[in-house]
Amino acid sequence: MKSITLADGRSITVECLSCAIVEGAVKPNGGTIYETEHFHAHQDVAYPITGLVILASKRHVKCLDELTKEEQNDYIQMLYRIRKAQREVLGIEQVYYFYNEDTTHHFHTWMVPRYDWMYEFGRSVESVRPVLLHARQKRNSKNEIEKILGAINELREFLNATDE
Ligand SMILES: [Zn+2]
Repeated sequence: MKSITLADGRSITVECLSCAIVEGAVKPNGGTIYETEHFHAHQDVAYPITGLVILASKRHVKCLDELTKEEQNDYIQMLYRIRKAQREVLGIEQVYYFYNEDTTHHFHTWMVPRYDWMYEFGRSVESVRPVLLHARQKRNSKNEIEKILGAINELREFLNATDE
């Protein structure tokens, strides 16, 4: 079991956070953004950043090379479509993609948009952790959360309105 602190400060204990989310036991901020047969897209439950999308497999696997052919195809199409939605709906110019296999959760990819405020923490991979912590500690105002929920709705509408 692992204890996780949510963006709103609450703490939950789960076996696998990704399973809990894709099965609906834990509701991420704003709910499901989009889902297919094999993948589930949602806002990160721990870090309030507008347009940050977590793309989790529905199956409890850890590594990319455990995906079936069908899951592989679904995965790349989901990444593509979400990235496109981030650009077209939210005007996001650059995104960092991150996934690690030594996680206590299962296979999920972070799609972290870059905003101007992040550059004070540097660039590239070493800036990611400080950016996430800063977001959690300093950018979790009511106003900011409203913006995030609005962005989730826009992404959801866009993704559900088109299948390209
Ligand atoms: Zn799992």
